[in-house]
Amino acid sequence: MLIFDAHLDVAWNALDWNRDYEQPLAVIRAAESEMPGKGRGRNTVCFPEMRRGQVGISIMTLLPKLLRDTMPPLQPYRSAVSAYAAARGQLAYYETMIERGVLAWVRNRWELERAVASWENGADMNTPLFFVLSMEGADAILHPRQVEEWWHRGLRIVGPAHYGVNAYAPGTGCEGGLFPAGRDLLREMERVGMILDVTHLTDQAFDEALEIYHGPVLASHHNCRALVPHQRQLTDEQIRRLIARGAVIGAACDAWMLYPGWVRGETSPEVVSLEAVADHIDRVCQLAGNSRHSALGSDLDGGFGTEQTPRDLQSIADLQKLIPILERRGYTQDDIRNIFYRNWVRFFQTAWKDN
Ligand SMILES: [Zn+2]
Repeated sequence: MLIFDAHLDVAWNALDWNRDYEQPLAVIRAAESEMPGKGRGRNTVCFPEMRRGQVGISIMTLLPKLLRDTMPPLQPYRSAVSAYAAARGQLAYYETMIERGVLAWVRNRWELERAVASWENGADMNTPLFFVLSMEGADAILHPRQVEEWWHRGLRIVGPAHYGVNAYAPGTGCEGGLFPAGRDLLREMERVGMILDVTHLTDQAFDEALEIYHGPVLASHHNCRALVPHQRQLTDEQIRRLIARGAVIGAACDAWMLYPGWVRGETSPEVVSLEAVADHIDRVCQLAGNSRHSALGSDLDGGFGTEQTPRDLQSIADLQKLIPILERRGYTQDDIRNIFYRNWVRFFQTAWKDN
């Protein structure tokens, strides 16, 4: 079945981790076998595996991290200008992959329909992997007026926050509300038609963002706080508010978001399986009363590898194993199609009704 995965940091992996995603997983892992560091030699994403797993459409990110005092740094930049330039570099990666026929844009309804038709009707080796461009953390938007420039470059979604604090909002691991620039950013996003991703916002910033911003909202890679407590996760009340706004919520496969009390670098992935991902999908479906708001946003290769994925997920292609798991829980083929791709397709069709 076609999969629409709402969160993959593809260009960040290609540039900051120096991974050649056109190679098989085994080749990428072998190239890193001597490298120290979390996730090295253990990645789960590459273009051949996305094809094998029918991950034909995804949201791919621009992810230029700023240096933040509050969190352990991951490839950070000391200035916003460096972050902006790095994002332009990541965009150049996507543009080059498009020229090579490996990737293809999804920026409007027409391109979305083409993507779905290409993959639903049986993709072949020449069918590109389609993607919507998103920015995780608005560090690379130098001022709110620049939202429009990024729109013209193909960007369609912005998550204002990431880990730590930036010029617009406090994110994961922090407290507090939007900064004045963050309020201006949201107003400009609404004016331009940029979609809001609430993932990584603090609780207060989440509330404020939903008040200020009246456009389409999604949660790209976000699990349930009721199942695994953490400020990074959505409360049931937040999930209800998102559902009321027509949002879709992508279930993430990062093990610490799936297993209560996970300790990074210590807990073994043996303790968690894809059943836990299904638990988070199911909670959103139960809160909604239907299967139209839960989906996938795997975040695979998002700074971690198989040391921090469910034990039965060694490749992104293993997402297909969720089909029998959901079937056993009573989900119909229609429900599973909703979760696997139709909810995201419907979301973007609605968000882009005018373009
Ligand atoms: Zn993230």
